[in-house]
Amino acid sequence: MSASTEQKRSPGHSLLLWATREERAGTVRLICAEASERVLAGRDETVVAWRGCLDDLPRALPFELLSLGVGRVVLDLTDCGGPWRTEWSELALVAGVTDRLQVAGEPPADAKRPKQVLDADAMPVLRRRSIFGLGGVPDEQTPGLPDHGSPQQRLRTVIRKLAGDHGQAPEPPAAGWSSGALDLVSEGCTACRVCVQSCPTDALALQTAGRRAGLGFDPSLCIGCGKCVVVCVPKALNERGRLGPPALLGEPVLLELFEVRACSRCLTPFRGTGEHCPVCTYRVQNPFGSTMPPGWGPST
Ligand code: SF4
Ligand code: SF4
Repeated sequence: MSASTEQKRSPGHSLLLWATREERAGTVRLICAEASERVLAGRDETVVAWRGCLDDLPRALPFELLSLGVGRVVLDLTDCGGPWRTEWSELALVAGVTDRLQVAGEPPADAKRPKQVLDADAMPVLRRRSIFGLGGVPDEQTPGLPDHGSPQQRLRTVIRKLAGDHGQAPEPPAAGWSSGALDLVSEGCTACRVCVQSCPTDALALQTAGRRAGLGFDPSLCIGCGKCVVVCVPKALNERGRLGPPALLGEPVLLELFEVRACSRCLTPFRGTGEHCPVCTYRVQNPFGSTMPPGWGPST
């Protein structure tokens, strides 16, 4: 599949494309398709139904709509008890758009049944090809569409763009952040790379140069899932709290720098005084057993 096709099919593409062509900066009310039959909306609002739960909405999407010129986005959570609504509010705080992203359960005072509910996956976007009959700019090459990297990269890009207008990250809520990056610390890392391989967003990296190794962490890519802490067999990696959405504005950090040596059997760099890395040590001691020590990799 070509990159342009992937971009065209990414979640919310149709809605974003519509936003680039929409000249009036009004309000977009997003609601899950299931609840759209009973939605109430303000007179000037465009109601858009998302196929599925609003919790499945790419976190970047409402912010990308705002960055494309939509005046206000309402996430309509009427009748919805989703515990994740705090996450949206925290992201809006960091992006500096609490007045433009409304996480709402109540309809506005002038609310009525809308004349039309649009489908987020099939927005009424006019193609230049159909107007002029002469080809023209294909949809997926429309200038101004957000960069479609990983979901977390998309979120980082748009939050930085919006937050850039108002300067510094906000103070944390009194109870602390409830979503976003973990505050990781490392002491005693053995360079096994299990956490690196387990991280779903590539927020961790282990780099070696000669006899030195460093465990790096990019908080702006961390989604706070905690997998890395769970899989660390030597318990070197730990969390001391949550950095929260302000980490989206931060830079990579070095968690630990240490000396390594090459395993005499597989040449993998490892931390220790023995001849073999932990995996080879285990294999030498258990030639007929599992190929990996307990807790190391998917074969265990
Ligand atoms: S899982 Fe633990 S020991 Fe292994 S590389 Fe990560 S921090 Fe280091
Ligand atoms: S908490 Fe999850 S996303 Fe963050 S570094 Fe660990 S594995 Fe990666």
